[in-house]
Amino acid sequence: MNDTTNHTLKLFNSLTRELEPFTPVHEGEARVYTCGPTVYNYQHIGNMRAYIFADLLGRTLSATGLKLTHIINITDVGHLTSDADVGDDKMEKAAASSGKSAWDIAKYYTDAYWWDIERLNIRQPAKWSIATDHVEEMIDFAKGIADKHCYELESGLYFDTSTVPDYGRLAGTQSDDVEGRIETVEGKRHPQDFAIWRKTPAGETRQMEWDSPWGKGAPGWHLECSQMSMKYLGETFDIHTGGIDHREIHHPNEIAQNQAHNCSEHSGANIWMHNNFLIDRAGKMSKSSGDFLRLQVLIDKGIHPLAYRLMCLQAHYRSELEFTWDNLVAALTRLKRMIIGVENLKTRLEKTDASAANDREHPKVTELRDQLWAAMADDLNSAKAIPLLEELLGLKKINAHQRFELLKEMDAIFGLQLETLTRENLRVKPEQVAISEEEIERQLDLRQQAKAEKDFAAADAIRDELTAQGVELMDGDPLRWEWSISI
Ligand code: AMP
Ligand code: ZN
Repeated sequence: MNDTTNHTLKLFNSLTRELEPFTPVHEGEARVYTCGPTVYNYQHIGNMRAYIFADLLGRTLSATGLKLTHIINITDVGHLTSDADVGDDKMEKAAASSGKSAWDIAKYYTDAYWWDIERLNIRQPAKWSIATDHVEEMIDFAKGIADKHCYELESGLYFDTSTVPDYGRLAGTQSDDVEGRIETVEGKRHPQDFAIWRKTPAGETRQMEWDSPWGKGAPGWHLECSQMSMKYLGETFDIHTGGIDHREIHHPNEIAQNQAHNCSEHSGANIWMHNNFLIDRAGKMSKSSGDFLRLQVLIDKGIHPLAYRLMCLQAHYRSELEFTWDNLVAALTRLKRMIIGVENLKTRLEKTDASAANDREHPKVTELRDQLWAAMADDLNSAKAIPLLEELLGLKKINAHQRFELLKEMDAIFGLQLETLTRENLRVKPEQVAISEEEIERQLDLRQQAKAEKDFAAADAIRDELTAQGVELMDGDPLRWEWSISI
């Protein structure tokens, strides 16, 4: 941590299941790898929780003064419909059912994902590493470990998990459930062994296939992340992140490959961090469940994407988070209140003499900064840190310059764009409502005028007309949000 705080950053390491102090591999730096999307479809808002978490981690590391190198990969080949070794490649399957090429599908959904990243104010990583750009290097990686750690079957090159120490330590005791999910491939030496190269079956042609010493085929999904993380971050780097489902198969397999490649017991990353799931009433949000919620659905209902970001930050990343529309609207309301607080603070700032910026820092501001860092250093406890921001906004009598500076420090971590977001941005604007905002505002002006002229019948008529169009007026709304549209 930098000198603004006395708190040592502690992060929960899934590997040891303990909170551990963060000590960078390279002094003054933090190197982080995040498992990115498989781009055969849109990401749902549950997936986006994984990147909001990784962004919170990255922002916190940057705020402590470390130079951050963050890599997020794009899986555009190799991820099967099952996390084990059976089923089709998700990309090929999507191509077959849509009639588009696998390459076009990858491009389309990568762009859609990047658009969501931007709208959630997730910072750009140092690099988006795209799996298909690295296949030759993946083949080299596989060649390097093939003799000692792999065996060939008709369907591909398999990793023998008994050749590395402590396989599956990350997953903990493998429950029957997990064992059950590892479907068997004929000839596998152990149920947990996995394909690092998958051969194109004889007589078939895949859209995405490459020549290799083991025949035409494609890299395994786990191989991709091992190769790309080491290429960009080094054989031993600081933190590897992903959703909690990766703790069971994907990350244990990456670790096994890293150990084999580095001829070491070390897992490759010092700390493995996993965000818990976004769930809904039906359970874990997933793409296989037919209709799934993506950010655009929230936006179409008129909800600003940063309300979803705030909803995620309100929960600790290791807790399950239930999605309901009520929770989302509550987060939006909370964000609106914050924006009003920031607007008031800005007004005060304009009226305050600039020389006040040099006053000794008010002890309450110092205390809030300390509490912020205490919360964030405690395994990124944003749920505890967010109310501090609200407390800061409420300190009306304290030097506006100092409050504004701390607000900026806080928002550098939360990423809620509090300095620039306006009330106008946060208005609920569902797509299906025909009436334009300009028209609503015009009607409101007319109503205001009618009231001023004591023509209450006319004022009521305007209200009724707006109600009929789905616009509800909120006279006396404590948030001074004069109207809303039900979603
Ligand atoms: P995928 O596109 O399926 O490879 O998933 C992208 C990321 O989202 C991975 O880190 C997953 O672990 C994570 N993830 C998947 N489902 C959820 C969920 N319901 N809540 C939070 N994270 C999830
Ligand atoms: Zn990965």
